Order: sequence, then C-alpha cells, then structure tokens
Amino acid sequence: MSSLRPSPIAPTVDFDRDGVQHGFLRLPYSRDDSAWGSVMIPICVIRNGKGPTALLSGGNHGDEYEGPLALYDLARTLDPKDVSGMVIIVPAMNYPAFRAGTRTSPIDKGNMNRSFPGRPDGTVTEKIADYFQRELLPRADIVFDFHSGGKTLDFVPFCAAHTLPDKALEQKAFDAVAAFSAPFSMRMIEIDSVGMYDTAAEEMGKVFVSTELGGGGTSRAQTVRVARRGILNLLRHAGIVAGAAEKGRTQWLDMPSGDCFSFAEDDGMIETMVDLGEPVEKGAVLARIHSTGRTGIAPQEIRAKMSGMLAARHFPGLVKAGDCAAVVAVEVD
Ligand code: CA
Repeated sequence: MSSLRPSPIAPTVDFDRDGVQHGFLRLPYSRDDSAWGSVMIPICVIRNGKGPTALLSGGNHGDEYEGPLALYDLARTLDPKDVSGMVIIVPAMNYPAFRAGTRTSPIDKGNMNRSFPGRPDGTVTEKIADYFQRELLPRADIVFDFHSGGKTLDFVPFCAAHTLPDKALEQKAFDAVAAFSAPFSMRMIEIDSVGMYDTAAEEMGKVFVSTELGGGGTSRAQTVRVARRGILNLLRHAGIVAGAAEKGRTQWLDMPSGDCFSFAEDDGMIETMVDLGEPVEKGAVLARIHSTGRTGIAPQEIRAKMSGMLAARHFPGLVKAGDCAAVVAVEVD
C-alpha cells in the first residue's frame, strides 16, 4: 500500500523539544522556476513538559482569514511558560492556496478538505493531507480547524462539532465548542463528509472542533476577536493553558436535516431577502434569482424548507445553478 511510503515532508521543528520553535513543513516541489524547490508551510510548536497536545490549523481553505489571523498571533504571543503540554500551530494548512487567496491550491486545484487521508505519492495537496493524517493527527488529543465562508459564502459566527456515533467523544467535542464561546454554537451536519479533515480526525477518535466565523473572502473586527478569544478558551478548556475560559453568551443552533440547505437551480443575479441571523418561516422566500440575459423575466424564488434563522448565505452578487444559496439553522435551548 502506498500509505507505507514515508511522507516526503521534512519538518524543521522537533516535536520532542521544549520551548518555542518557529519552523516549516518543507515539502519538495520541483517546478519550472525552482528545480529543487520546496513548499515551505509555516509551523510553530510550543511545548512545555507533560500534558495534552492541541493541533490548531487555519487556511485549510486559502481564502478564509479569521483562523490565520488568530493563529499567527497565537504563535507569536503564547509563552511556553504558560503551557502544560504541546500546542502545534499550522496557521495556513493549504499554504499554496493561502498564498494565492483561493479556496483550492493553484498547483493542483486540490481542496484540502476533500483530500484526506491523502497520499505520500500524490499531489502537493494530497501530500500535505497525508502528513497531517499520519504524522500530526496521531500526536493530538484535541484538534481545532478554523473555517469561514471564503469568497462564496458568509456565515453567522459559530463554533461547531458533529453528531458522532461515539457519544462520549461527541460530548467532549461539544464541551470544547461551549468553551470556545462563539456568539453561536452549532451541531453541524455536512453535505459531503468524504475526504474531510474533520472525518479523518473523528475516525481516529480525536476531539475535533471547527468554526465558520464569517466569510466573503475577508474578515471582520468582531469575528477576529471571536477567533482570538475562542482559541485561548479552547486551550484553557483542554488544560494546556491555565485559567478559566472567558465565556460570553452563545446561542446553540442545530442543523436537523438536509432541508436546512437550499441550492440555486438557475444562473443569475441573487437578491438576498433575509439577512444573516434573521428569523425565517418555512416557505418564506430566502432569496430571488434574477435572469439577466433579457428584461421581462420573473425572478426564481428560493424558499425555506424549514423554519429557523438564516445561518449562511451565498456571498457574491452572481450565482450559478448548484451553488449553495442559503442555510437555515434551528435555535435550540
Ligand atoms: Ca471553509
């Protein structure tokens, strides 16, 4: 099996050494402008004695910024004296995509979150996934992966975990979500979980927590504050950093079925009829898609299949058939 081949990635950090190390995951990548070149993925290891290990990542998708903003900051400021155990920080996991400001890698079009478990002899994106799968995930007790909506989606800011067959693991994940203390906390379902980092971590029995903190290919002051406070809360909750989590009010949300997703069935110009966080009734018009090729055409309506609140929406002004237009979530106590 190809998975027996060692990873081509060479870390410049030593995971067994105490202190702070700022280094790279060096991935050989031979190309026209650099015959013996490499992709240098930034990594920081902050370690102090015995204790749990947290594996923190951002930039799984390259056009999402709250995670990288929080994690480059954490890597620069977290003092090993304040750590019990180890914090591994990879602020821009799909580094080629992050450098390009795109969701997927410009090298191979790889979507990191559909590339797990990866391959040591695969594409650049698959090689990064394989390194996380076989070298980083096994070291971790708690795994946190920042996401936002990227250029095409926008979300109310939430921290999330999944419903899992292992109820003890599920409870640990939701306890960590509560500790993160985002304005919203989500019990999340996935449209397409095959190949996700989430699935890889959960199948390994790791506590896995994620976010959707905004989107539109940028960040906001509020969502970056949520990210920075939340990740410190998570480390306190995990017992890696001392002190109690700084809790704020959170509203729990549920995605009870596939009916929470609405997809565009036409190309055109999208008109949002409900803003993020606003309540919606079943049957209400969430968005209208206007034909633009000629005048005189009535817009297509996208209606809510369930009542709740608008948790996510398509971000750009133009939409294509098949795009996720809106996500409705249900508020729970
Ligand atoms: Ca994402």
